[in-house]
Amino acid sequence: MVIKCKDIFELFSDYLDEELESDLFTEIEEHLGECEHCISFFHTYQRTVTLCQSIEIVEVPGKVHIKLWRTLRKEIKK
Ligand SMILES: [Zn+2]
Repeated sequence: MVIKCKDIFELFSDYLDEELESDLFTEIEEHLGECEHCISFFHTYQRTVTLCQSIEIVEVPGKVHIKLWRTLRKEIKK
């Protein structure tokens, strides 16, 4: 399977929760290593999470990650 950007969007929350098969996980890692579009998205996501964490001073739970991810995905699709 060749991972495309839209697959990254679909699989990203599973990827973060480490709920993917290892093959798929590797495919995503490889895609993130070479696709500028997904890298910049990934960095934006991480920055947002870090920002949330610094404001809340608590660890952001998994469900918040997914919610945040969905919000970002909507933004990107505009
Ligand atoms: Zn991509």
